[in-house]
Amino acid sequence: MNAADLIALSERRSAHNYHPLPVVIQSAEGAWVTDVEGRRYLDCLAGYSSLNFGHGNPVILAAAREQLDRLTLTSRAFFHDRFAEFAAGLADLCGKDMILPMNTGAEAVETAIKVARKWGYEVKGVPAEQANIIVMEDNFHGRTTTIVSFSTDPDAHDGFGPYTPGFRVVKYGSAEAIGEAIDENTVAVLLEPIQGEAGVLVPPDGYLRAVRDLCSERGVLFIADEIQSGLGRTGHTFACDHEGVVPDMYILGKALGGGVVPVSAVAANADVLGVIRPGQHGSTFGGNPLACAVGAAVVGLLRTGEFQARARELGEHLHGRLRELVGAGVVAVRGRGLWAGVDVDPSLGTGRQVSEALLRRGVLVKDTHGSTIRLAPPIVVSREDLDWAVDQLVEALREL
Ligand code: PLP
Repeated sequence: MNAADLIALSERRSAHNYHPLPVVIQSAEGAWVTDVEGRRYLDCLAGYSSLNFGHGNPVILAAAREQLDRLTLTSRAFFHDRFAEFAAGLADLCGKDMILPMNTGAEAVETAIKVARKWGYEVKGVPAEQANIIVMEDNFHGRTTTIVSFSTDPDAHDGFGPYTPGFRVVKYGSAEAIGEAIDENTVAVLLEPIQGEAGVLVPPDGYLRAVRDLCSERGVLFIADEIQSGLGRTGHTFACDHEGVVPDMYILGKALGGGVVPVSAVAANADVLGVIRPGQHGSTFGGNPLACAVGAAVVGLLRTGEFQARARELGEHLHGRLRELVGAGVVAVRGRGLWAGVDVDPSLGTGRQVSEALLRRGVLVKDTHGSTIRLAPPIVVSREDLDWAVDQLVEALREL
């Protein structure tokens, strides 16, 4: 089947819960993908930051292949020989006592919510059923019914009620707003250290530190959803590192699975994660041998610091180039490391139109909202390829 036939069949036989760009990818290596017609594209989305280490990273693939031949699933009814190394390695990377592994990002967010509530009732002494969690406007934490209950995006939220109670939404970027919303039944503040889906929104300097201090003073858990911002993307292991801040709980996903399998986890100290006891939470595939082998390889790559340094250096270069476009078809550029939200002049076109123009020029990006596109190439991308992608953006803006 050619690309048009494959797209038509996909559209006919699957729900339209995405609006993909019209390209059918067949293979990939590093930062480049190839479609069914043999055309190559520079991947500047990287599976929404799931492919930080590149397509077909040899270290990750070797770990996966070796594991595939040996043992793939036991369930957590038994121990397996890859679990301990992954758990200890990831906990150490996070500077925490322990982890709880799941599969998708949304499941890890659900895990964090359950842990925070249980901690609230058992440790903080919140009366039964009264716990509240403070979340941010324009958040994106996933698609489950509980998570969309506190989404402020009408597409994500509307039409899926009845909604889960127990969440208070405040303005992102204002520690004061959080302070005002906290009461004696608040168990956690949940936020993205950089809001990805909202358009790569970086909060004001000092915000994360202020949230950390506030949470410590008021006896509330600080939960950082680093599913998209973490694991090297911003030039540090975690986006919270930019302010030297350590949350009480990290939520991780996407790149933790190396672009090979879904792997997510929460990481926290024993006084927090210890509230979960047998039978209270879990997942058949969470922490399976293949996931642990891949996850351990990812932790190993991050332990070297190479990817963080590369994202930092290339990120500076990318942001320098993008800033030059402000006033020339671009209204604003935000982000950190190899992660940028680019607001295109809305009079030129929508983010979708910019993405389509870039697709025609061999660059894969995705719009977020309105006239914003996001750039998040695999960290293995070369400086020359990055420059070429920005050149294509310049040309695409001219042609709109
Ligand atoms: N949290 C954040 C910050 C995300 O960016 C995402 C996905 O984009 C999620 C949670 C949900 O992850 P998943 O799609 O794996 O459920």
